[in-house]
Parts: sequence; structure tokens; C-alpha cells
Amino acid sequence: METLQSIEAVRAWRGSGELGFVPTMGALHEGHASLVRRSAAENARTLVSIFVNPTQFGPNEDLAKYPRTLEADLKLCEQAGASAVFTPNNEMMYPPGFCSWVTVEGLGDRLCGASRPGHFKGVTTVVSKLFHIVEPTRAYFGQKDAQQALILRRMVRDLDMPLELIVCPIVREPDGLAMSSRNRYLSEDERRRAVGLSKALFEAQRLFKAGTRTAAVLRGQLIITLDEYVDKLDYAELVDADSLQPVTEIAGPTLIAVAAWVGGTRLIDNVIVAP
Ligand code: AMP
Repeated sequence: METLQSIEAVRAWRGSGELGFVPTMGALHEGHASLVRRSAAENARTLVSIFVNPTQFGPNEDLAKYPRTLEADLKLCEQAGASAVFTPNNEMMYPPGFCSWVTVEGLGDRLCGASRPGHFKGVTTVVSKLFHIVEPTRAYFGQKDAQQALILRRMVRDLDMPLELIVCPIVREPDGLAMSSRNRYLSEDERRRAVGLSKALFEAQRLFKAGTRTAAVLRGQLIITLDEYVDKLDYAELVDADSLQPVTEIAGPTLIAVAAWVGGTRLIDNVIVAP
């Protein structure tokens, strides 16, 4: 496996064959590994990028303390079947005078976008840049970040980006907690309580399967369960899985998404239900 440290090195390495691409911010876990394995199975070669993108963090967020574990990350990439890893730095991604942005209007204002203003503008801009640098055949993202996947899918379609975007299932810990680089922040007690997000979602899913279709009823149940476990709720929403518009009665694919603070850590999770 090669390590590529500059945009020029990626372009020289790229060649013309089928290439799968997995963009990440490092601190890799089994969730990331699942994307790399899927890409390696579906493409001749796979490139993983590791870049903690500063423009998607708000001024009071965890950019400075975001976990950086490059050595272990490289090992995980190699074991999962990556052909190369791209590790750009801030200077090459955002040269002096940088002032060009990619935004997807509307979809980025709700859910995580409401509590993290500017977050998705940072994501769409860096992912666009990475797509231009890497020119992947297929790019792999996790359903864990459901809103991000939806926004990127729209960006690829609206701007005719010549690649296929593939969204992979959420990988969870045995107790249900969605794997996340931010789980490393959790103390023992917080880790125990973090399971409340998936517990609440699975409970809502169970009620849905038992016939409940009224969003307010499901949302009420979500909040009761979350209140038992988390320190502060950010949101618990039932929205149309395509438009992210709130639903009142579940009639089509619906994203049930939650975000909550456990101690100083903001966690997100979701499930999709469909009648
Ligand atoms: P991140 O490094 O957090 O920016 O994540 C990089 C990619 O991995 C994104 O497409 C995430 O959605 C995906 N990802 C993160 N956690 C998981 C998980 N538990 N299961 C599946 N994909 C994940």
C-alpha cells in the first residue's frame, strides 16, 4: 500500500483504471473498514483519504482535539484492502486566498445543519475537491451520516460529477452503539449511556413494525428513551428519507434521526423505516 502526501502524487498514481474512493477524517474503526472492504471488492484499486477537514468544524467544535491515529489508520486501510492512502494537509487543500465553495441549498439547513451552521458547506466543498483530485469511479460513504450522504448524492447529480456514489450500512458495536471516531471521547459511564441513541431508534423501529404510523407518537417514545440516557437532546426527527421534510404520518421511506450530547460529546444515529 502506498502513502500519497500531495495532490501531484495522487494524480501521478491515479492512472486510468477503475478506482474506488473512501474519504475519511481518520481515527478509523470497523465502520470505515467496511467501506474500504466494499470498495476493494468492487474496484480494481481503492484509495482512502485521511484529512481532518477544518472547514466543516464550527468555531466551538472539536477540531483541535479530533483524534489523530495515523499509524493505526494506515494498518487498518492496508488490512481492509486499500491500494493507497492520501494524507493531504491544510495548506494544500486550502491555499492562501482560497474563496471558492460548493453548497447544496436547503437540504443542509435542517437536522445537523441547524445545530452546525456551515458544516455541510465544508463537507460538500472538501468532497468536491477530493473528487476532482482523485477522479474516482465509485465513492463510498456511510449511512451513519445520513444527511451528509443525501446531500452528497444531490451534489453529484446536480453538478454531473462523473462517479457513482454508494452508501453503506451503519456498523454498530455489539450493544447497538453506532461506531464513530468520537466514541473515543466517552468515559466509561458515558459509553454506557451512549447506547441510548440506538436503543431509542430500535424501540421506534419496533413500534413502527407493530403498526404505529404517527410521527408524533414515535417521536414521543424516542424522547422518553433518550431522556433516560443522554445529557442533552439536540434533535429527534422523523423526516422524508429523500427531501428531509418532516412527516406527520409515515407513508413512505422515513429517516428517523437523532443527535444528542453525552457528556461533552455530540453523537448521531439513525434508522430508516418504510411501510
Ligand atoms: P468520518 O471519518 O467520520 O468523516 O467518516 C468517513 C466515512 O465513514 C463517512 O462516509 C461516514 O459516514 C462513514 N462511517 C463512519 N462511521 C460509520 C459506521 N459506524 N458505519 C458505517 N460507516 C461509517
